[in-house]
Amino acid sequence: MSFNDGAKLDPSQVEDVRGSRIGGRGVAVGGGLGLIETLVWVLLGGSQSPGGALGSLVDQTIGGDAGEPGPASTALANECKTGADANAREDCRIVGYINSVQAYWHDEFAASGKRYVGAKTRFFTEQIGTGCGVASSASGPFYCPTDKYVYIDLGFFDELRSKFGAKGGPFAEAYILAHEYGHHVQDLLGTLSGGTGQEGATGQSVRTELQADCFAGVWANHAAATGFLKPLTEAEIADALDAASAVGDDRIQQKTQGQVSPETWTHGSSAQRQKWFRAGYQTGSGDGCDTFSGTP
Ligand SMILES: [Zn+2]
Repeated sequence: MSFNDGAKLDPSQVEDVRGSRIGGRGVAVGGGLGLIETLVWVLLGGSQSPGGALGSLVDQTIGGDAGEPGPASTALANECKTGADANAREDCRIVGYINSVQAYWHDEFAASGKRYVGAKTRFFTEQIGTGCGVASSASGPFYCPTDKYVYIDLGFFDELRSKFGAKGGPFAEAYILAHEYGHHVQDLLGTLSGGTGQEGATGQSVRTELQADCFAGVWANHAAATGFLKPLTEAEIADALDAASAVGDDRIQQKTQGQVSPETWTHGSSAQRQKWFRAGYQTGSGDGCDTFSGTP
């Protein structure tokens, strides 16, 4: 088990609205490729998502609100208190990863005289109204810079195995969360940028996504130092790299279209994603995450 049993969790960093159906039932959602947080790009006026549906999804935003955290959040607060809980339950484990990721960035920002403003994660099921439009589980996890929340249907982790062919494992989950928080860090640093026509293997979208992968690796390097986690094992790092590979654009395109079109990439190839997670993990510094110059 990878959490220190006695570590104290902060479940207030997660709002659990699973099971509530607030936020626009009935909006047609379909064709989502499960591409991770394409919504961000649509929101930022970026390239059309390959799924297509997400663009219209945002256009049809009906402004549903996510709802107040209800009894479920209270349950998290009562049941996700320690590292031992994180070792026993998936939702508590995700709380623990989020706590560790934010603890790292909080200290890292402070060390360079900057202030890290935290972002919460909302667990949802099916559909949810967000500052970036109505999202469905098919959107995959994403960070919304408008309301500063990470959104995730934990069912995505099953899809990661069944649909994307990843091996899975708890640390694959950690990678996904750390990637989303990487976008929050970019938002704070001002590097979360998109724009029209920014897709392609060396485009702005891919560079931004790869930096989030790199930031995930940077956190992994320091994960044990946050006190939440035990030193990572080779197997855990392998699970993260495997997940990064599984969500590579080339692998997804090969699976869903039977061909690979680098000019439409938004997140980067399997090789690029692994390369940048590894770069962050090995250097342990955001300075090693300059994906914007040179060939990413
Ligand atoms: Zn991303």
